[in-house]
Amino acid sequence: MRRKYAVGNWKMNTTRREAHDLARAVADHVRTDRIQVVLCPPFPYLGVVQDAIKGSSVVLGAQNCYCETKGAFTGEVSPTMLVDLGCRYVILGHSERRRLKDFAEQSELINRKVMRALEAGLTVIVCAGETGEERAAGRAQDVVSEQLRDSLMGFPLDRLPQLTVAYEPVWAIGTGVTATPQQAQEMHLFTRSRAATLWGEKAQKLSLLYGGSVTKDNAVSLLAQQDVDGVLVGGASLKVDQFTAIIDATIATA
Ligand code: PEP
Repeated sequence: MRRKYAVGNWKMNTTRREAHDLARAVADHVRTDRIQVVLCPPFPYLGVVQDAIKGSSVVLGAQNCYCETKGAFTGEVSPTMLVDLGCRYVILGHSERRRLKDFAEQSELINRKVMRALEAGLTVIVCAGETGEERAAGRAQDVVSEQLRDSLMGFPLDRLPQLTVAYEPVWAIGTGVTATPQQAQEMHLFTRSRAATLWGEKAQKLSLLYGGSVTKDNAVSLLAQQDVDGVLVGGASLKVDQFTAIIDATIATA
């Protein structure tokens, strides 16, 4: 059995008060540890959210980190600082980090972040996904395979329990257009087969999340797919009724 996930990526949203109230509402809803619910608020609200989820089975994640532990890196946040604040997870290689010109993160940098985050004891949620043009050109699998190969270069086999991969087609993120369950399953199966060429049987244990306009209405059919082990949710994770329904849909598959 693979671990099932419902991960909320709040991106650059919420006030301090909204962060607290949203986290508390989610924590109050989750009465099981059959799945892992992870909340990823903006950096300044990590502490607020950590307080709000205390005593529940919901855990804290961050949306990014840098690849050094400390030093003269103005404006950056290290993985050890995240652990110090109570984070267990960190999202790395999100398409907004890769593709927005202001960030333009390459897989090589993401790889360094992955390695440093592992050392700090975090579980990494590494994202990959193709654009609409790449899919139309029949390159979806090549793009995802390349992003994952380069972002996970040298990933130590004994650290596999600290890895979760999110397939997030760029054309589906924040657009309201979701991959069909068949498209998601096809890409997840492909990703698992690539992982199996690297890590053999152990790839069967790797949790693969789908992200891209997940809502309470489409979560059930996506999560019903054999190789979809959870969801990474942006917009809908900011709405209590949406996210709690998505959590319930995830629990139903566990
Ligand atoms: C995301 O931020 O990873 C995401 C999938 O966003 P949304 O659910 O809003 O498409």
